[in-house]
Amino acid sequence: MDQITASPPNTELDLQGALDRQRHAFAASPFPTAAQRQATLKRLEVLIRTHQDAIVDSISADFGNRSRVETIMSEVLPTIGAAGHARRHVASWMRPQRRATSMNFKPATNRIEYQPLGVVGVVSPWNYPIFLTLGPLIDILAAGNRAMIKPSELTPATGALLARMLGEVFAPEEVLVVQGDVAVGRAFTGLAFDHLIFTGSTEVGRHVMRAAAENLVPVTLELGGKSPVIVAEDFAIARAARSVAVGKFFNAGQTCIAPDYALVPSGSAEAFAHGVLEAAEAMFPALNGNPNYTAIISDRHHARLTELVAEAEAAGATVLRHKDTPGGNVRHFPPTVVLDPPLDGRLMRDEIFGPVLPVVRTAGTDAAIAFVNDRPRPLALYAYTKEPATERKILDRTISGGVTVNSTLVHCAQEDLPFGGVGPSGMGAYHGREGFATFSHARGVHRPGFFSGFEYLTPPHGAKTRFALKALGIKSGDGK
Ligand code: NAD
Repeated sequence: MDQITASPPNTELDLQGALDRQRHAFAASPFPTAAQRQATLKRLEVLIRTHQDAIVDSISADFGNRSRVETIMSEVLPTIGAAGHARRHVASWMRPQRRATSMNFKPATNRIEYQPLGVVGVVSPWNYPIFLTLGPLIDILAAGNRAMIKPSELTPATGALLARMLGEVFAPEEVLVVQGDVAVGRAFTGLAFDHLIFTGSTEVGRHVMRAAAENLVPVTLELGGKSPVIVAEDFAIARAARSVAVGKFFNAGQTCIAPDYALVPSGSAEAFAHGVLEAAEAMFPALNGNPNYTAIISDRHHARLTELVAEAEAAGATVLRHKDTPGGNVRHFPPTVVLDPPLDGRLMRDEIFGPVLPVVRTAGTDAAIAFVNDRPRPLALYAYTKEPATERKILDRTISGGVTVNSTLVHCAQEDLPFGGVGPSGMGAYHGREGFATFSHARGVHRPGFFSGFEYLTPPHGAKTRFALKALGIKSGDGK
């Protein structure tokens, strides 16, 4: 492992060799027991606890400043929670499920057995580099597989930490971290894994799916998109504004399920926009030197955000900016609210992935639903309403990967809810039981009873066959 991670493999041959070794090891131990899986998950849980400070430091180094508490809340706690949940439930998830026997085959029995798939590839992004790497890994290990992991090149310190940490407790035949740039990513996704889970942008997701198709590798794609907020007329605007600000400015908006834009009843739009900015200023009174305000991952992303806002402002939108102007050498981008953005501009077409919230006026909940349905299916949707009928209407008439009602983000941290997108925001799901199912093969097993109709109805067909078919209510077709 050290050899490979210290000098990352960058040819298909090295990667192929690593995959072959994992395959070979899997063939020797294709069905780890529940106790073995529990022990593996425990090792992972202890690993996260013992490396908590290193995780906080490496992510902050990669970002140029990542809030320590945000790292604990979004990387350390949910990963420990997911590992513990899988450890407590894996034995019951593994249990074969009895299924009904088709009428004509009684008294046979049917069951589903969950088999490990083999070697699973994991490609992870930079925005939550621990949770979005170890989260899939937990489900992969719970399902009895081995894993090869390619973290993002934008978080090299965390990638190196992952390689070191996982190398402490896993042999390279169990879990292997492959570091490298996009070229390594391309070679990695060209491998004939038994399954591949990719978390990243919709654009790169298309390349990944194309590469996987070459080897007919099944994929789980955890992608991005523009996750809307719908504020209904009945909800207190100041409360909605504060709540949306909490989710939007977490990790400086660099969250796949961040509220991307807000649809607000026309007459309340100004109050909402000002409320969001006031909440941001209360959470982050100053930006410069504030360790709680996370920086933007790269100069390129910082410049992109500047352009999105400038383009909207030039087209007539009202831009509300945090009163403190960022300075110094930290890539901070100020919390920004853009009221009445042009709907055909990049701010309302591209995923924002930063601390900028467009506020769009709508004529009410029906118009907001229509707005959402006119656009690609999002990864998350946030509905603010106290009216059960309005909540029902929003849930029934929209489709998104997941939903949090009257708050943001937290559906993602629920261990017993599936997490995944729909349409352009992704395919497949993981977390908890659904993660176990994603990385398992559900094999149908049929066992005939003491009598098998299939083996009774054999040629030469005559009176016996006619009798049996008649008993089943079917004509024999030979005219008798
Ligand atoms: P990205 O798509 O640029 O990169 C993701 C990973 O893919 C990286 O490890 C990268 O090295 C690799 N990669 C890049 N090009 C590749 C190629 N041609 N072939 C194979 N691998 C390649 O995404 P990002 O910038 O790291 O992350 C931001 C995006 O990820 C946003 O769109 C966000 O919404 C999405 N995201 C989704 C989720 C989710 O759970 N659905 C979570 C976090 C982020």
